[in-house]
Amino acid sequence: MIFCVEDEQNIRELLVYTLETTGFQAMGCADSRELWEALKKETPELILLDIMLPGEDGYQVLEKLKSSSATREIPVIMVTAKDAEFDKVRGLETGADDYVTKPFGMMEFVARVKAVLRRCSRNHPENKTLSYGDICILVGKHEVRVNGVKVELTRKEFELLQYLMENKEIVLTRNQILCQIWGYDFDGETRTVDVHVRTLRQKLGEAGNYIETVRGVGYRIGG
Ligand code: CA
Repeated sequence: MIFCVEDEQNIRELLVYTLETTGFQAMGCADSRELWEALKKETPELILLDIMLPGEDGYQVLEKLKSSSATREIPVIMVTAKDAEFDKVRGLETGADDYVTKPFGMMEFVARVKAVLRRCSRNHPENKTLSYGDICILVGKHEVRVNGVKVELTRKEFELLQYLMENKEIVLTRNQILCQIWGYDFDGETRTVDVHVRTLRQKLGEAGNYIETVRGVGYRIGG
């Protein structure tokens, strides 16, 4: 089930219709109040979240979703009419998995939905751990520890760190990272990678210095 939170009825119906004809189950919510009601009854696989909503806006809703353990793991795609870089960065920093900018093509929209769902359903072996220096990842538990202290990461930050640590000492290009973590490779979207590397470094504290920027190429851990 995919929840589509969108106040404009035409767009909401189009989203639901497009998803249903692609084989998904989807339900529209006209505002955050309807979303919170729907969440009491069912946990969706994905939430599409418009930013400009009456009442609580998309950012406020996203913050609430990500601050509750009951809803934190639900992937969120922000749907925004705004094309400003600022909005994308803010959404991604708050923990959105992706965003689409209105007006968008239905092919691209469906591709992004599928990519997010694919990424989030990736199977993790239960007891696998990865470590580098002071960082230890318990892959199955989705847990990261620095010097034994748990660090809270968004799903994308976690996947990014895991990908870097699975490829120790190898320089990963922004496009490789985008492909691996977001499941697509659209031109001009590599800023997304930089935003996540920045927040990941901040959250890791001193251990964030392990992530090296290779100028003009990409990133690596353990150079
Ligand atoms: Ca709206």
